[in-house]
Amino acid sequence: MQRRQQRRPLDSVLDERLAHKSAAGLRRTLLDVQPAEPGRVLLEGRSFLDFASNDYLGLGHRPDPGGDPGSARASRLVTGNLPVHRRAERAFAEWVGLESALLFTSGYAANVGTVAGLMGRGDVVFSDELNHASLIDGSRLSRARIEIVPHRDLDALRRGLETCDAERVLVITESIFSMEGTHADLAALRDLTTAHGAWLMVDEAHSLGTMGPEGRGSCVAAGVRPDILVGTLGKAMGSAGAFVAGSSTLREALIHDARSFVFSTGIAPAVAAGLPARIDWLRQADEARALQAAHCRRLSDGLRALGVEVRGSGPILGAIYGSPEVAVEAERRLAAAGILARAIRPPTVPRGTSRLRIVPSAAHSRQDIEAFLEALA
Ligand SMILES: *Cc1c(COP(=O)(O)O)cnc(C)c1O
Repeated sequence: MQRRQQRRPLDSVLDERLAHKSAAGLRRTLLDVQPAEPGRVLLEGRSFLDFASNDYLGLGHRPDPGGDPGSARASRLVTGNLPVHRRAERAFAEWVGLESALLFTSGYAANVGTVAGLMGRGDVVFSDELNHASLIDGSRLSRARIEIVPHRDLDALRRGLETCDAERVLVITESIFSMEGTHADLAALRDLTTAHGAWLMVDEAHSLGTMGPEGRGSCVAAGVRPDILVGTLGKAMGSAGAFVAGSSTLREALIHDARSFVFSTGIAPAVAAGLPARIDWLRQADEARALQAAHCRRLSDGLRALGVEVRGSGPILGAIYGSPEVAVEAERRLAAAGILARAIRPPTVPRGTSRLRIVPSAAHSRQDIEAFLEALA
């Protein structure tokens, strides 16, 4: 209990870390470069011959049909930081209502780099047992002690936090769990973490674009401000990459300590350039969101009527069959009707919970949903 008094906000810990780097002459900044002709780069309006990037054959300059360069040609800490990156980052921060955001090349890279970059030996990470592999791998790499929390078990988390004596504690959850579509109680998690001085990280891979007003995600919908919010762009966004949002101090710390950011080529300009327009599409996609939600409701009702246990309330549903054979048989029946849904078996999901993972889309018609149910009837 003594310890809890000493726990500090994430920003205060990170500010101190950054100050140490400054004092040691190790503070870094992102250079704002503009693309120029092959072999060169524009820096504050001046053309430089570029001997810093990895554009061996000059192909990184060749525009995609959309007109933006196909590659950032280097880590953003070297010469790969372009205006399209900042524009997308500002748009993401504004969309999710947080101060700042930093792009990563994938959700996997974002989670591994962020957790391993922020946490270390002697720290504790509380992680829901169904958290994504990237969150597990990042936690392992961090060398922090990992406390696995039974799925969505707030009482177990509370007990864990009450007895935990670490100074830095991170609680990690997905907003919507990817294999069964269950939703985390974000408001309760925020209350609990705040009460114990722990930091809250929410992976919104499946809720950005699908949940909340203008698709702004589950945190906005719940009125919750996490310390760290992760959004992935390969799902509802229909693109590739990810961002981590939070305070500008968090962004600054990740630029230094997230190894998947530091030691990796920046997200492709051609991809980054398209992101603000995609955010606009998602903001205006209320009709598609309503249709996807209606498909989920119809599918759950129909599956339950067939005696199948359904988990999740959308945008993902888990039809739990228990045994792997039965789940695969359901997959086979659907395939025979020209419908693809995958059976998910251990070790991806716990033993005895083999299931069909079902993701309806607004691109499906109501008849498509009926065809799905008929195939399983
Ligand atoms: C898909 C997913 C990721 C990984 O995102 P990628 O961009 O595909 O690497 C991370 N977290 C969750 C919860 C996911 O479902």
